Amino acid sequence: METCEVLVVGGGPAGSTLAGKLVQAGLDVLLLDSQTFPRQKPCAGWITPEVFEALALDAEEYRRERVLQDISSFRTGLMNGKTVVTRYGRTVSYGIRRCEFDEYLLQRCRVRQSLGEPVTMLERKDGWWIVNRRIRTRLLVGAGGHFCPVARQLGATLGREEVVAAQVAEFAMSPEEERICNTPADTPALFFCRDMKGYGWLFRKGRYLNIGLGRMDAHNLARHAGEFCTFLSRNGYLASDISVRLQGHAYRVFQGRGGRRRVGDGALLIGDAAGVAHPLSGEGILPAIESALMAADVILAANGDYRRDNLESYAARLANRCCGGSVKDLTSPVLSGIVRFIGARLLSSSRFTRHIVLDRWFLHTNAKADYSS
Ligand SMILES: Cc1cc2nc3c(=O)[nH]c(=O)nc-3n(C[C@H](O)[C@H](O)[C@H](O)COP(=O)(O)OP(=O)(O)OC[C@H]3O[C@@H](n4cnc5c(N)ncnc54)[C@H](O)[C@@H]3O)c2cc1C
Repeated sequence: METCEVLVVGGGPAGSTLAGKLVQAGLDVLLLDSQTFPRQKPCAGWITPEVFEALALDAEEYRRERVLQDISSFRTGLMNGKTVVTRYGRTVSYGIRRCEFDEYLLQRCRVRQSLGEPVTMLERKDGWWIVNRRIRTRLLVGAGGHFCPVARQLGATLGREEVVAAQVAEFAMSPEEERICNTPADTPALFFCRDMKGYGWLFRKGRYLNIGLGRMDAHNLARHAGEFCTFLSRNGYLASDISVRLQGHAYRVFQGRGGRRRVGDGALLIGDAAGVAHPLSGEGILPAIESALMAADVILAANGDYRRDNLESYAARLANRCCGGSVKDLTSPVLSGIVRFIGARLLSSSRFTRHIVLDRWFLHTNAKADYSS
């Protein structure tokens, strides 16, 4: 039987961030992922500069061998409505490709890893977790995304939770398609659904195009996504002969003290497994990294005693957290309903778009997180 102090299930941004911090502190960590890297992850790949700050990553070093698209403007509007272009005159966000980004983070964290190995079996015995009948660990960290087996072990009721349901495609454009594409690479386009339950995006990263649609309502998602692609072609955003194969995925947004149970005896959840994505933008990469950093602090402070009481402060920190900006005010269904109602009426206003939609909902310029521990 292989033994480790901490076993991390999942090598996405949450898992690799946590593993890196614990390895640096001298803990014996093993990370398992069902896939081998590089792997595809359905995602738009939009990140804010806070991601680089939180990970102490050098953007220039990263871009030397990978796609890092600078974003300085956004086109926004209601689908089939008037659009507004908001220019910042500086880089306010980036576009990355998840197949590159996640592999880079995983390599950099220097953790002992077993890739291509799904966690299929979890048993609790004498204070240990026995994983896949071959590994035993004191602490089990669920970083396996929305369908993480550790989340299920802690009681997540998959299928009955409120989720963001999304479909996305990312592909390399041919030189001819690149020539026709009228979306500037530094200006991604966001088109909100008329009911404000979600939005579609068209996002160019160098020669790669990323198209997708996410909604807080999984009903008829394929139809909404199909209509979005038709809207893009009809309005010249997409060459009409491009056939887009969309891939679906779901995840939970942050719901304050509600949502999934995130801590158990010898176990905790981070990232999408814990349901921490931003409630209005659906941004999940930064919250996944932030949750991993908070979990690392609490794990190290527990000093080897991983009883639930010693891990509970992580759940409390998550509930009070800034997700690159405060999200507490947005987790009330009534308030977010009002925000959506007003938002749909004001999306053609350039002031509202800049100060509320972009600065507050997407870029969180209203509140900066502190990453020092
Ligand atoms: C269509 C779409 C677009 C999105 N766009 C954005 C965006 O532009 N910006 C943004 O910030 N967020 C975006 N998100 C959200 C973002 O992708 C997630 O919040 C983020 O990936 C969470 O990271 P994570 O490390 O928690 O999980 P993941 O990145 O999902 O990683 C989980 C890992 O666990 C592994 N795993 C799963 N099950 C098992 C198992 N049984 N055993 C072992 N390993 C397992 C998986 O292989 C995977 O590698 C988007 C999401 C979707 C669906």
